[in-house]
Amino acid sequence: MDIYCPVCGEPWAIDELHDVPDAGFDAAWRRFSDEGCSLFGSGHNGQPDTAMATKSAMLHNVLGDDIDGIASLMDE
Ligand SMILES: [Zn+2]
Repeated sequence: MDIYCPVCGEPWAIDELHDVPDAGFDAAWRRFSDEGCSLFGSGHNGQPDTAMATKSAMLHNVLGDDIDGIASLMDE
């Protein structure tokens, strides 16, 4: 399952959160909610998918730490 940048809508594998330097999985997730792609040292997509970004940001706000819930709702 993928998570989506709340800024530009770029998809990322959940497992990427395990590979963030200097942050545990939970801390990485919270930072992703704010920073999106830049957490992984990547720039935001130049042509953002605003529909996915808006949906992702909304689900982050509603579901918070429920990563699996967010990922499954994003797949719909
Ligand atoms: Zn992004």
